[in-house]
Amino acid sequence: MADVTERNVLDALKRIVDPDRRSDIVTLGMVSAVIVKNGHVSFAIEVDPERGERLEPLRKAAEKAVYDLPGVLSTTVVLTAESRTPAPQPADGPPPQRGAAPHTHAHAHAHPHSHAHPPAQAASQARLLPGVESIVAVASGKGGVGKSTTAVNLALAMAQLGARVGILDADIYGPSLPRLLGLSGKPSSSDGKRIDPKEAYGVKCMSIGFMVEEETPIIWRGPMVMGALEQLMRDVNWGGLDILIVDMPPGTGDVQLTMAQRVPLAGAVIVSTPQDIALIDARKGLNMFRKVNVPVLGIVENMSHFICPHCGERSDIFSTGGARREAERMSVPFLGEIPLAMAIRETSDSGRPIVAAEPDGPHAKAYLKIAENVRAQLALGKDDAPRIVVE
Ligand code: ADP
Repeated sequence: MADVTERNVLDALKRIVDPDRRSDIVTLGMVSAVIVKNGHVSFAIEVDPERGERLEPLRKAAEKAVYDLPGVLSTTVVLTAESRTPAPQPADGPPPQRGAAPHTHAHAHAHPHSHAHPPAQAASQARLLPGVESIVAVASGKGGVGKSTTAVNLALAMAQLGARVGILDADIYGPSLPRLLGLSGKPSSSDGKRIDPKEAYGVKCMSIGFMVEEETPIIWRGPMVMGALEQLMRDVNWGGLDILIVDMPPGTGDVQLTMAQRVPLAGAVIVSTPQDIALIDARKGLNMFRKVNVPVLGIVENMSHFICPHCGERSDIFSTGGARREAERMSVPFLGEIPLAMAIRETSDSGRPIVAAEPDGPHAKAYLKIAENVRAQLALGKDDAPRIVVE
């Protein structure tokens, strides 16, 4: 198959003429952030915010021109106002039209008709990923609290409980899934259109880390993030899944907020350490999801206490139970605690997470307990509709 280059992409885009300015979008300097990676192409077309809605046909035409190039597997095109991150949009209702807020569409080619408007949560879930029952975000207020370790072990624990599980590494700033699951190399495509997820320990995985070199610094702007993320969800052959765990980027900035409202999440799990400072961050995470009407399924306390690798004795180095108390205070479920244990770090580093490495050990049991609690919370969410019981 011919290798697509940035040159090919730009040449194809020279055929696309801006109807208002009577010249092509390349000559006008409207095309930016072109990324070509193994046949997957993404780029942005910079437009005045007020023209965003009207230029949707232009975006579509540009998408098609590139998609039709030989060797192109997928195309993600976003309309973006110059160098700005999209303003947070309400969880439902129309996208913002006001002032200078950029109007952004992020599309992947597989579903050219589905707009990336903020979801009316459940409704657009079916549209984005028809085969996926529930999408659950694993998030944290800040980095380094063990969010990815928790996400991966939770996914494996869910699979042990019999669920069909996928995990999507949306931590674009530091994708760690390939390392945690011992996966490397580029994913392949069996149908030549969609990317096949990789599989480890019975869980399907997709990570931006499979697509970009680790040393390549990528400057992500809000719209690019959404484009890449939507592509990772939509252009991947996930097949049928009961649950897709999304390992979110740490923190509660604009990118996270946009993601939280644009990905049709069934709920969010917040990972926190017991220290107060981390809990303040966790609270921010919690509020972020609440703001966009994503149910918080609960809080996990990671590195809750220390288990000595030599004698197995437990020490409460940080005042343990902080997350449990905070969960109670905030009226969200407490999902469970995971100790700070050498074995958890070592197994993660070696690409064989503890739930796979020691499935009958105490740590795996702790993750299984959390998985059961998450499952119960998800079931509760589905039971919200009133039921009539006839006896
Ligand atoms: P985050 O995704 O929040 O940045 P990671 O999951 O990458 O955090 O974890 C950060 C570091 O802490 C990693 O080296 C990981 O192995 C380690 N770690 C995470 N959870 C635990 C735990 N419960 N016990 C010991 N080490 C842990």
